[in-house]
Amino acid sequence: MDTKAQGAALVVDALNSVDVDGGTDAWANDLDYLAWCASRDLEPGSRRDAMALRDTLREGLRAALSGRAPAHAGALPVLPVVRDTDGGLRLNPVDLPGAIAAAVVTLTIAGDWPRVKVCPADDCLEAFFDGSRNRSRVWCAMADCGNLAKTRTYRSRLHDSTGERPESLAHVIVGQTWAKGEVVAGDASV
Ligand SMILES: [Zn+2]
Repeated sequence: MDTKAQGAALVVDALNSVDVDGGTDAWANDLDYLAWCASRDLEPGSRRDAMALRDTLREGLRAALSGRAPAHAGALPVLPVVRDTDGGLRLNPVDLPGAIAAAVVTLTIAGDWPRVKVCPADDCLEAFFDGSRNRSRVWCAMADCGNLAKTRTYRSRLHDSTGERPESLAHVIVGQTWAKGEVVAGDASV
């Protein structure tokens, strides 16, 4: 795996340390956080920094789904940049928060940050890296998410056509995303 692929895998792994569907957080306390890092052979660093970074990134990705601005501005932790003996600068993360931040920077410079996405299903929100050629992937690897949303959109349209309001705003957002996915899928089949 090259640096970019490693960074993408780390970012997705870190984003999914919180399981929205299961209501669990692998970084909920110091012990769990240390165990999570140890199982991946990563230097833990500050759990607080790692969580702040993860939650800031997740909020930004969720906001991107619906085309709105994130509720809060968020800063990445200070980047671990070192100067080589030849005068050049390079990223040299020493712990998990630094490694996540460095990976985000690497992906951004490569133009691949928009490929990091979260599943639009409200009860899922699993992060994934969209490796598709035209960045058209919408849903996570769980086949249920796309199918469920399609059913909800259909129901929502039925409600609309009978003059009733959709069940929730979330359904509208999911519906729009699904509609976008359909357009992309349609283009691809031409
Ligand atoms: Zn999903």
